[in-house]
Amino acid sequence: MRHAFWNSVKDSQWQSWVWQQQNRIKSLSQLEKILELTPSERLGVVKATQFRMAITPYYASLIDPSDPACPIRRQCIPTDKELNSQTYDVEDPLAEEAHMPVPGLTHRYPDRALLYVSHHCPVYCRHCTRKRKVSDPRTAPHPQSYEKAFEYLRKTPEIKDVLVSGGDPLSLSDVRLAEIFKTLRKIPHIEIIRLSTRNLVTLPQRVTENLIESLKPYQPIYVHTHFNHPKECTLESKHAIDRFVNSGFVVNNQMVLLRGINTDPEVVKRLNLTLLRMRIQPYYMIHCDLASGLSHFRASIDDGLRILKSLRGRVSGMAIPHYVVDLTPGGGKVALTPEAVLSRKGSAWRFKNYQDKVFDYHDPEFHDLGDGV
Ligand SMILES: *Cc1c(COP(=O)(O)O)cnc(C)c1O
Ligand code: SF4
Repeated sequence: MRHAFWNSVKDSQWQSWVWQQQNRIKSLSQLEKILELTPSERLGVVKATQFRMAITPYYASLIDPSDPACPIRRQCIPTDKELNSQTYDVEDPLAEEAHMPVPGLTHRYPDRALLYVSHHCPVYCRHCTRKRKVSDPRTAPHPQSYEKAFEYLRKTPEIKDVLVSGGDPLSLSDVRLAEIFKTLRKIPHIEIIRLSTRNLVTLPQRVTENLIESLKPYQPIYVHTHFNHPKECTLESKHAIDRFVNSGFVVNNQMVLLRGINTDPEVVKRLNLTLLRMRIQPYYMIHCDLASGLSHFRASIDDGLRILKSLRGRVSGMAIPHYVVDLTPGGGKVALTPEAVLSRKGSAWRFKNYQDKVFDYHDPEFHDLGDGV
């Protein structure tokens, strides 16, 4: 799939991530060559410049030019609504900067830490929670600051799991990435390494054989990606996912719940079933957080619960993500589920199932069991 504007581009260029990166849409005049903008979009592109605009030709080609509400378009083209600020909006809702023992590393949970290795992304998602720093080259982490982060990880044996994040880590070269993963893998108490990337969605061409070969020695590696809509599940994405999965990486998805983009239960169902077929496990459905300028994307928590209720019992449990709200400021993630317990009296529980039918359950009388013999 390709927008007519790029029809004369050779296939070999179109399939090259370098070409895609170099030909990203970054200005109003480039954008107006492929789409007719709404007044709100034009204002957004001109005024909402603190968080840059960039769109790969690949991702731009997924836009339906005749639909101003197109879910791809809404995710990558700024509007003047980004300039709105609401009562509860804050710059850094997850208090990621406050929980930094050293620059470039957030340590919130006892056994996990998040390492920021790049502030660049192929496409800047308008709903990005880190828009306070992502896309701004002045705030990008320095290789010297990684050393401090590695030092901290080495002397903190409670940390078993490191999320390599950003921005998008795949904005770094294969060589640089391999160095980072190699350094982490040498720390004996680190068991799990995760790679958080949206390249599978916005620039799947980036997942080359060379990238896979560069990271493969440092397994187990879990890839967290970020599909929000079934329109993003293309053949190109599938090809990139296959490369990871066929080489033993585990890939899962963190969808962000976005008003008007994926608040329709049918859309979420289709997305998660499609991802399962592509061998991605839906992991999280994340409530859009309180970062400034995102209010127009925010759904209500009732919307989220309604979506979960529509899935439970009707699709495989494997297609049902955890619905999480990441609490401000820095309270961490809490998981919400639609209420299934109607009442409880001592050992007597009353439940309602996915069809709203009522069932009773009694706990066994544990006091007779002693030590279980
Ligand atoms: C989400 C997050 C993690 C990882 O949490 P999981 O629930 O294990 O996926 C780790 N650190 C920070 C700061 C996070 O926001
Ligand atoms: S890929 Fe992630 S870090 Fe980059 S702009 Fe999108 S949401 Fe933000």
